[in-house]
Amino acid sequence: MNLKLGFAGTGLLGNPMAEMLLINGYNLRVYNRTAEKIKNLTSSGALPALSPEELFAESNAVILMLADYSAINSVLFNGKYINLTGKTVIQAGTISPRESINLEIKLNTLGCSYLEAPVLGSIMQAKNKELVVMAGGEKTLAEKFEPVFNSYGNMQYIGQTGSAAAMKLALNQLIGSLTLAFSGSLQFVINSGLDVNQFMTILKGSALFAPTFEKKLGNMTGDKFQPANFPLKHLLKDTDLIIEAFAEKGLSTELQKVISEKISEGIAAGFADEDYSVIYKTLSKKE
Ligand code: NAP
Repeated sequence: MNLKLGFAGTGLLGNPMAEMLLINGYNLRVYNRTAEKIKNLTSSGALPALSPEELFAESNAVILMLADYSAINSVLFNGKYINLTGKTVIQAGTISPRESINLEIKLNTLGCSYLEAPVLGSIMQAKNKELVVMAGGEKTLAEKFEPVFNSYGNMQYIGQTGSAAAMKLALNQLIGSLTLAFSGSLQFVINSGLDVNQFMTILKGSALFAPTFEKKLGNMTGDKFQPANFPLKHLLKDTDLIIEAFAEKGLSTELQKVISEKISEGIAAGFADEDYSVIYKTLSKKE
């Protein structure tokens, strides 16, 4: 097949992913609802699509890196009729296993192939080809697109549709819980007049350390949460997906509900577009 690759959703992470596809020699057509955000890509050789219809008409496989399930539906189904027969949709954003399975059913009914390929990592990992691309769906389809994914990361085949979405949620569950756990200890260290450097040295030498603690320390102590690689609003979306997915499996969701509440507090305080580590600030409220 002569691959005519399309890409929809050139936001914070979609943009560098698309850029890496161009750098790796793919013929790429790009669409974004806010057209301004494709300009850097068209300057680097991408072909523009002014609408999802144009994107699909001119591509045989399209990577979607959209905010959420509602954005995916709005791009695929809410506009003019898109002929999806014979095409492949590769879903790279973070959605729930149920949403992913529903999407596959809808697309397969229209004669369109579907692969889920959510990613772990952020902008820097995309630029360094270090995103972990978790593929779910038909293995042969995943293998066919592995060279494409190698432009921005490394593929791990997870299993049938829904399994990669589930793996992604299992990993993202740690973002909120680890960040809040670290925030609590850090604030306690500061409020107790202890030495933050000494705390970090002891932590780093112990089994309790996670690299994310060191990465986010500067944001928290410097009260600087911009630019955001992964904004707080997306962590709320993911945490709510995690609550739903855990509940479906009969698992306790108490911890995730507290995390969701803390994130919601941060969003109410105006931090929706700040780096998610801004949830640190939601702990410093005086009781
Ligand atoms: P983002 O910067 O907020 O970009 C979201 C994209 O979705 C934009 O292209 C936006 O278009 C589009 N969009 C939103 N609502 C839409 C609608 N109703 N109709 C059409 N397009 C719509 O997000 P991102 O950080 O790139 O993340 C994209 C996905 O990847 C999310 O599911 C996120 O959870 C996941 N993810 C992100 C990271 C990260 O580090 N950032 C890491 C792993 C996974 P406009 O530009 O017009 O708003």
